[in-house]
Amino acid sequence: AKEDGRNCVRLHDSRLADQTRERVRIGEELRGATTRGEFELYYQPQVDILTGRIDGLEALVRWNHPVRGLVPPSSFVPIAERTGAIVPLGGWVFGEACRQLRVWKDLGIAPKSLAINVSALQCRQPTFERDIEASLKTWDLTPDGIEIELTETVLMEATQHQRSVVERLRQLGFKIAIDDFGTGYSSLNYLTTYPVDRLKIAQQLVFQVTNDRRHATVVRAAIHLARDLDIEMIAEGVETLAQATFLSNEGCPKAQGYYYSRPVTAQQATDLLRAGRIS
Ligand code: C2E
Ligand code: CA
Ligand code: CA
Repeated sequence: AKEDGRNCVRLHDSRLADQTRERVRIGEELRGATTRGEFELYYQPQVDILTGRIDGLEALVRWNHPVRGLVPPSSFVPIAERTGAIVPLGGWVFGEACRQLRVWKDLGIAPKSLAINVSALQCRQPTFERDIEASLKTWDLTPDGIEIELTETVLMEATQHQRSVVERLRQLGFKIAIDDFGTGYSSLNYLTTYPVDRLKIAQQLVFQVTNDRRHATVVRAAIHLARDLDIEMIAEGVETLAQATFLSNEGCPKAQGYYYSRPVTAQQATDLLRAGRIS
């Protein structure tokens, strides 16, 4: 049994080493992937829970790796955040989302809002504001149709400089959304000081609303909190009709999740926008 135990440990060690090597490799391959054109944006609809009308889309990055195939962001975004590769990548994401929004505007089918994820490191760059303004100018867009998704952690750990950046963005007309609401900090204090437009109730909470009373209670409280603060809200990760029903009964107006649509390619998103709703 002792032998087994030791083998087990060794096996575990070598697996860890493999994982570390793999992360290092991904980190190296990320460098230059932007200029090699290996990234693509997918879009997931955000719908009005009562009517199924699409009123927004969230842009989600995908990596078309020449050897590995389609790599999900969970396998490379955290690494890109550590190596700094998220900065050029995030810049590309913003520009590409703007380009696509221009296409949809020209077709007359643009969604009310297009949500873009921005990481902490990215919004800490001194050129962040200038870069996004340049993208808007290139594609002849105004900020009002664009929503910037920041996590609670980003807001809580923000420096004075970052805070003023977020405030200025909002004054310029961008919408600010708190991503994964309810998973980061237990303190709600930042809601009193930060003017935000929208809370996105985290999918980890939504996931359990129909089979766990505590999750249901927390989600209900989040819905009431947002409503009383006059902040828009949307539930993410809605996978079942039962979850959608619970949310709409509790007064949550918007939802996003596999129940409505997975993230889809720009072409598929164009078809969804033409239809205007999820059938
Ligand atoms: P997120 O911003 O919370 O995005 C939502 C994630 O949940 C997406 O995963 C989406 O595909 C997935 N999802 C949507 N509906 C459902 C559902 O009903 N059930 C389940 N189980 N999952 C659902 P994805 O695309 O793999 O992205 C993962 C994370 O990677 C994102 O989480 C975000 O933090 C990050 N990410 C993605 N794109 C970007 C980007 O362009 N920039 C930055 N900085 N981060 C990004
Ligand atoms: Ca997000
Ligand atoms: Ca989220």
